[in-house]
Amino acid sequence: QMSETLLTAEKLEVVYHHAITAIQGISLTIESGQIVAILGTNGAGKSTTLRALSGFLGIDNARVTEGHIVFKGQHIENRPPNEVTRLGIVLVPEREKVFPNLTVADNLSAPFAPAMSKADRKAREEQVYSFFPRLGDLRARIGGLLSGGERQMLALASALMCKPQLLLVDELSLGLAPVIVEDLMQRLVQIRGDLGITIVIVEQSAAVALEIADYGYVLENGRVVLDGASAKLKEHGDIQEFYLGQS
Ligand code: ATP
Repeated sequence: QMSETLLTAEKLEVVYHHAITAIQGISLTIESGQIVAILGTNGAGKSTTLRALSGFLGIDNARVTEGHIVFKGQHIENRPPNEVTRLGIVLVPEREKVFPNLTVADNLSAPFAPAMSKADRKAREEQVYSFFPRLGDLRARIGGLLSGGERQMLALASALMCKPQLLLVDELSLGLAPVIVEDLMQRLVQIRGDLGITIVIVEQSAAVALEIADYGYVLENGRVVLDGASAKLKEHGDIQEFYLGQS
């Protein structure tokens, strides 16, 4: 089966506040239909990489100062997030991902989704509820009263309303019980399979991410120190020692 490159990042450098270099020289290739994991410890530059790819750097007063990001043949580095979203890259951020005062239903219909007819939107909503039946039961509940796992579901569901081609998910597992994380990871696999959406996940827990990913990149101090097919990475001595808690 031929694969097609959806996004490439070439030698990216990102600087915060004109002063702090968070990533330097990161290159990535995302093949269409893959699940790609970005791994690494605290401060390695994972979230910064996702913000660069999704256009959300400006909010933190950061910029891509070197390198390029090419998505479907177009340069997108330093483009504003609304433009990048419209092109098909949608970020599920690490924090503040749902509107706490809006109901589940209003969270889904509120955002940034591209213009859709009423019928299209309705169909899309029903499709999204079919991926997350629990959210269907909670339509009238406000975001602030959801559990951590339900909030993650809602964040993913809201992102799907934006019709992503490339979905970027930052630390899905953060603060959640392992069985809930396992369930969410399987939803991602299903979303990739049923909707054909390419997915990048950022995770501190490598074991969880490599379970569903096809390919992985390991970041350290703003650089890629290791990359490869998930099966290869799982066997790699450094990964076992530092990220999988075995040696
Ligand atoms: P974590 O899992 O802790 O979020 P990470 O791998 O996602 O880690 P980043 O958050 O991308 O790492 O941080 C990379 C570097 O950029 C760190 O040195 C961090 O201090 C710096 N950084 C991140 N966000 C900001 C910001 N808003 N302002 C200034 N520096 C920042």
